[in-house]
Amino acid sequence: MQQSLQVCLLESFTNNEAKRVLALYVKHVKNCIENNSPETVRYKIPYDLTLSLTFSETEDTNVRGVYNDGLNEIKITTVIGSDFSKRQLNDLFRIAQTSIVHELEHKAQRGTFGDRLAKDRAALSPKLQSTNANPTYFFKPTEIEAFVFSLHKRAQKEKRSFSDVLNEFIVSLEKSKKIDSLNAKRLLNKMIAYAKLRYKT
Ligand SMILES: [Zn+2]
Repeated sequence: MQQSLQVCLLESFTNNEAKRVLALYVKHVKNCIENNSPETVRYKIPYDLTLSLTFSETEDTNVRGVYNDGLNEIKITTVIGSDFSKRQLNDLFRIAQTSIVHELEHKAQRGTFGDRLAKDRAALSPKLQSTNANPTYFFKPTEIEAFVFSLHKRAQKEKRSFSDVLNEFIVSLEKSKKIDSLNAKRLLNKMIAYAKLRYKT
């Protein structure tokens, strides 16, 4: 009962916010690309939302999200690599949406789970906090929630099965060597167990 109430709160909050943030994101990226000018924009809605875009000759196109609970701020950073073409815009928006949903879940965790984020953070050294490359990061309860939630949303949106999207995610972590195959299996099992609890599937 407790669990499902929390889940309802998280989902309605995130669904509404995700639409608003994605609309701002799309507008921002299109502006930057059309004017060929990197830009950072800030909104107070009422939390702080920072969207920043840069062009890079050396990096591949990527989107990164951060939720800073101390500042009540969501930051979405986009790098556009030199190989990027406008035909890839929809793929970029798709990746950004998953990232936006993930960070909004962290924001919702702050409100509904109280100090859950703070506890996660305290358990990690300052060095680990700043990197996503350590497997410990993926096993944090708040990360499992946020990844499962954003991947579940992606599956719904793309009309694919959740297990397909989840497997794709785990394989990408393994491929990019963010996690070894033993931890990949462990993480997959943990995510499936959490998804069963959350979505009763
Ligand atoms: Zn996260």
